[in-house]
Amino acid sequence: MLGKHVTHSLSAYHHGELPADERTRVEQHLQACGACRTADERIRFGLRLASMLSLSTAPDIVIEDNGARVLLQSKPWRWVFAVSFLAAVAIVIVVLRMNVAPLPAWEVSGVSGKDRLRPGEVLQTDASTSAQVKIANIGQLRVDPNTQIRLLVTRSDEHRIALDRGKVEATTWSPPRLFIVDTPSARAVDLGCKYTLEVEEDGSSLLHVTLGLVALDRGGRETIVPAGAFCRTRSGAGPGTPFFEDSSVEFQEALARLDSLNEGLDRTRQLEIVLRESHIRDALSLWHLLPRLDAQSRALIFDRLAQLLPPPPEVTRDGIVAMDPKMMEAWKKIVSQLWQ
Ligand SMILES: [Zn+2]
Repeated sequence: MLGKHVTHSLSAYHHGELPADERTRVEQHLQACGACRTADERIRFGLRLASMLSLSTAPDIVIEDNGARVLLQSKPWRWVFAVSFLAAVAIVIVVLRMNVAPLPAWEVSGVSGKDRLRPGEVLQTDASTSAQVKIANIGQLRVDPNTQIRLLVTRSDEHRIALDRGKVEATTWSPPRLFIVDTPSARAVDLGCKYTLEVEEDGSSLLHVTLGLVALDRGGRETIVPAGAFCRTRSGAGPGTPFFEDSSVEFQEALARLDSLNEGLDRTRQLEIVLRESHIRDALSLWHLLPRLDAQSRALIFDRLAQLLPPPPEVTRDGIVAMDPKMMEAWKKIVSQLWQ
């Protein structure tokens, strides 16, 4: 049962101020209600922005106490609160401005003879040009040499381009899910704030997120790629398994082969390398592998993942092998801290 909307409880939820039963109700409702999930993503976005800003602005204070040096942390919550409030105000202003003004063309600089990009138009750079494009009033796009983009949609609730080939770097300051890039192999949905996306001649692509989160979507299945992680997509196959940039070369190579191979002995061999080479942050990849592989592989993944990030007591090996939704959800709460 869906019950009452939970938007009014989300702030308290994120600050850990709700009693346990209300927490559970919020979590269950968020799974079922798209409207509240969108509101929740906007709050998370504000908090992420706030934590990034507060890390760089809040000074730590060192005092001398009877000859011993004591580090006093400045009050981070006060900063987080102040900055998330400002971020929320900024988002509201952006949203209001977008609703009053239709935005028919995007500003372009760096390409001779083209200073506007309108819906339906193509922007192409040659081997020696790169362009800067304003994503309406919500962000900035750097278009690298030898790149072709098309502006598909620009309106208050959606800004969408197609990246046919080449590479772009997107930086946005909008609420999540407003800016979308279609590639031949997947759709990149911006959840805020900064990433590069490159499309090869064969239609495959490589996403690298540098700040915030991006969702790669194909046929309704979403892969969340957090800051510091890469994800490859292949034409006709959709998103591969995301991995953090600090994972070992052996890990990355085995993961790429695992993504491209069908069931069989060689795939089991690659999985063994992936598991052997995995460290705590690689739980991101292991988690995303679970639903992609067969039951026998899931049992092997369970064993390694349980060493890296132990599941809560109610989660069993058999349950994860069978992809029991309740157990998956319970463990995901722990594992997903890597990308929240
Ligand atoms: Zn709701």
